[in-house]
Amino acid sequence: MGSEAARLLEAADFAARKHRGQRRKDPEGTPYINHPIGVARILALEAGVTDTAVLQAALLHDTVEDTDTTPEELELRFGAQVRRLVEEVTDDKALPKAERKRLQVERAPHGSPGARLLKLADKLHNLRDLSRCAPVGWTDSRVQEYFEWAAQVVKGLQGTSQPLEQALQQLFRERGLVL
Ligand code: NDP
Ligand code: ZN
Repeated sequence: MGSEAARLLEAADFAARKHRGQRRKDPEGTPYINHPIGVARILALEAGVTDTAVLQAALLHDTVEDTDTTPEELELRFGAQVRRLVEEVTDDKALPKAERKRLQVERAPHGSPGARLLKLADKLHNLRDLSRCAPVGWTDSRVQEYFEWAAQVVKGLQGTSQPLEQALQQLFRERGLVL
């Protein structure tokens, strides 16, 4: 299986190749891979996560949703636990967007501990991005609606990680929202 560092680097390299050519929605068009790396970094440095499978899943969390990667491919390369974690945080793109958003709120409380941590870190990274600058074409009210929806998801993840929840709470307060 290799050292912990080797497993992390293998996941980072795989995600970088899969997301090659994709960009975030911010005006600078930041390379997409900055997001999964940022999510894994939040888990390691802010939440104190040391479980390599969870950190690998963070690096890989958007590969099934946004690239041609299959869950089987993840299992073969990274094992069943990483596959399960990524599947838990992957939306079904066959569903309409509003339904996908509703399901995230509904399912948040029922995830495994690793998936709940991953969801919190993903929301925190996206909300920090949105606080820094709005994506191209987004109005203030669309940004605000995103925060409102994210607050509903995060509400269902309470009791997962105190430092991440505190950081999120602060961002919601700045928007006039309470959990
Ligand atoms: P999207 O799902 O289209 O975009 C948000 C997602 O994009 C994030 O969850 C994140 O997902 C990814 N992303 C990429 N770049 C960034 C970035 N720089 N900052 C943050 N996220 C980024 O948004 P929604 O459809 O959810 O829109 C938000 C709200 O606005 C909704 O509640 C919807 O109802 C409303 N809406 C309003 C419209 C309007 O014109 N007023 C039009 C459409 C929706 P990942 O982590 O997977 O990369
Ligand atoms: Zn993400």
